[in-house]
Amino acid sequence: MCAQSNEKNRPVVGRFAPTPSARLHLGNLMCAMLAWLSARSAGGQFRLRIEDLDTTRCPFMGEHTKALLDDLDWFGLDFDGEVLWQSQRTAVYDAYFAKLQEKGLLYPCYCTRAELHAASAPHLSDGVPIYDGRCLARLLSGEPAPTGRKPAYRLRVPDAQIGFFDTVAGDYREHLPTACGDFIVSRSDGVYAYQLAVVVDDALSGVTQVVRGNDLLTSTPRQIYLQRELGFDTPDYFHIPLLVDAKGRRLSKREGDGCMQRVRATYRTPEPVIGALAAALGLLPTPQSVTLRELIPLFDWAKIPRDAVRLPEGF
Ligand code: GLU
Repeated sequence: MCAQSNEKNRPVVGRFAPTPSARLHLGNLMCAMLAWLSARSAGGQFRLRIEDLDTTRCPFMGEHTKALLDDLDWFGLDFDGEVLWQSQRTAVYDAYFAKLQEKGLLYPCYCTRAELHAASAPHLSDGVPIYDGRCLARLLSGEPAPTGRKPAYRLRVPDAQIGFFDTVAGDYREHLPTACGDFIVSRSDGVYAYQLAVVVDDALSGVTQVVRGNDLLTSTPRQIYLQRELGFDTPDYFHIPLLVDAKGRRLSKREGDGCMQRVRATYRTPEPVIGALAAALGLLPTPQSVTLRELIPLFDWAKIPRDAVRLPEGF
């Protein structure tokens, strides 16, 4: 029997979609573990997609990617079907870019990073300024485009609220013109933007559950807008809180806390690591050695903390 997703009668398909720009971290692994448990406990499929769109930061099958595949294997995460490599899918994104272009939703943007940052517009939490539409205004006024620059392409956003219900984070909505403005779907160096690639890939892989870090909650209204324009279904969303140490502090990247290299050197086998994460997530009363499969019957989204997930003392 096919497992069904919450409301929409579709077979459950989950995914993990890491960007291999650094060695995997316990926080990423927690995300993968939750996504896997959510899909497997519903009898669903689970897919792996490597988000290596930016081949300068993430060379194809580079050192971090190889370590990532090895870390996931060590942890016991299994996947269905072929691994999807975003760096190999430009032709697929071309087709959906063309579809947006045919709908008249795209326009070229010649603004440099320095020009954008010099603008007085408010900036988003990730440091990107809310776009004021100046290249669209220039285009509409018939003014010629600057020469000698390759344009990025922006998607025009509607003057509307886009909202959704997130199983972990609750109701979330944004008015796109004031929350981010027209956003980039293709960069000036020709690389497709994360927002377009993630929407196309999730849809074409039949993904019904998106489990990922809370930092991507604010990307979701943009992605839902893209799904609607491209005629795709919207998956169920689960934006999970940050993993912190026992004192509630962010794991320090500089000191290598939570880096899988250190975790594997310390623990040797995955079971105590899985147990510590399971206790932090409220799936076990205390940390103990377990396998991922043993956690499947204990998994329930209602148990997952809504704020920070705290690692046990001494981990
Ligand atoms: N590639 C993104 C990351 O590693 C996650 C994208 C997603 O799950 O939608 O943070």
